[in-house]
Amino acid sequence: MSVVVRYAPSPTGKLHPGNARPAILNWLFARRHAGSFILRFDDTDTARSTEAFARGIEADLDWLGIVPDRTVRQSDRVALHDAARDRLIADGRLYPCYETADELDRKRKRARALGRPPIYDRAALALTAEDRERLEAEGRRPHWRFRLEGRAVTFTDLVRGEQTVNTDAMSDPVLVREDGSYLYTLPSVVDDMELGVTHVIRGEDHVSNTGAQIELFEALGGTVPVFAHHNLLTDSEGQGFSKRLGSLSLEDLRAQGYEALAVAIMASVTGTSLPVEPYESLDAIAEKLDFSMISHGAARFDLNELAGLNARMLHTMSFEVARDRLARFGVDSEEMWLALRPNIIRLPEIADLATLVSGPVTPVVADEDREFIAEARDALPPEPWDESTWKSWTDALKARTGRKGKGLFLPLRLALTGRADGPELRTLLPLVGRKASADRLS
Ligand code: GLU
Repeated sequence: MSVVVRYAPSPTGKLHPGNARPAILNWLFARRHAGSFILRFDDTDTARSTEAFARGIEADLDWLGIVPDRTVRQSDRVALHDAARDRLIADGRLYPCYETADELDRKRKRARALGRPPIYDRAALALTAEDRERLEAEGRRPHWRFRLEGRAVTFTDLVRGEQTVNTDAMSDPVLVREDGSYLYTLPSVVDDMELGVTHVIRGEDHVSNTGAQIELFEALGGTVPVFAHHNLLTDSEGQGFSKRLGSLSLEDLRAQGYEALAVAIMASVTGTSLPVEPYESLDAIAEKLDFSMISHGAARFDLNELAGLNARMLHTMSFEVARDRLARFGVDSEEMWLALRPNIIRLPEIADLATLVSGPVTPVVADEDREFIAEARDALPPEPWDESTWKSWTDALKARTGRKGKGLFLPLRLALTGRADGPELRTLLPLVGRKASADRLS
């Protein structure tokens, strides 16, 4: 059996690390098992779904390195959903209900007051054809509920192990609204069947939906896929991410210059027994990550941890790997990259550091250091310069002036770079070169 997974976002907002997690976990699973990955837009909520959000999600996945084998939209598949609806109606599994939201609310309150679970009482199942005609003549339109078998539905979850959802303790779910539109459940199951999805990998907030979904797969004669419900990612305060908040979207992280792979590592490896550390690629994670390693508690996405990981990745990144993205930041040689990379957390920060090499630099010289800086300029060694130049130059200055430590190095750094900290001068000096160094010391 070849593995087929799907990532099924609703295009009603921007992706954030929390909803990128199932995308990446699906992708890792597909790669690990040489399977295929379907991007399925769950866009049945036409009021909130937009083409712009769908395109944004595609761009985000592309940035993360996820390349869907196939992309489908539920809005293109309504004929399939309608056919399934009709079949369920014919089989007596989908039945029309006419209660208004207020009436349902009253029923729930009454049940609670009587100490009973607030489960739909299936009153609509008792309606006769005449009852329905009368209700429709009053202008009521039916919504449609799926008649659950009411049993212990068990499945083996790849993350959570044996699971039992008792559909006896649930209201028959509404599959079709008054206006004929579908809620998430029916299109999802129908499409999973039709697309040949073998593994449904999604957040654990869907565990309780799984019981009704399994009954629906069976009612429609489909093969029940294998489920894997992963822990949810929270932000560093332990709050769940919200699509609608729009905070910390992938687009923002990308704009801030974080490495896509660092974000992907954080969004997938966090909350598993694998260490959050640099991996060479998504495939390298896919090789290591088995779903049994996903922990059961929440997983925290901490921006500081992302920054630390991002920095670690950049500090060992080869020039070859970085090259294409460096040109626009004014870094055009391997020497420059190697000299500057230890001082950046995010790649775009290198643009500012590149000016320390190519200028312009506004030297800072305190009054009491003027003489020393002039002496330093005169003592600049002849070219060629290399990484030993800094030491031979400052050794000579130390001998001549008696300065040492901070009193020796800080005035030189301030004059050469205009700032009190930054890349090592040992590596910077040969990149600046004798002429520019002399100018800055003048
Ligand atoms: N569109 C659903 C969601 O975003 C998909 C859930 C699922 O994977 O079945 O929650």
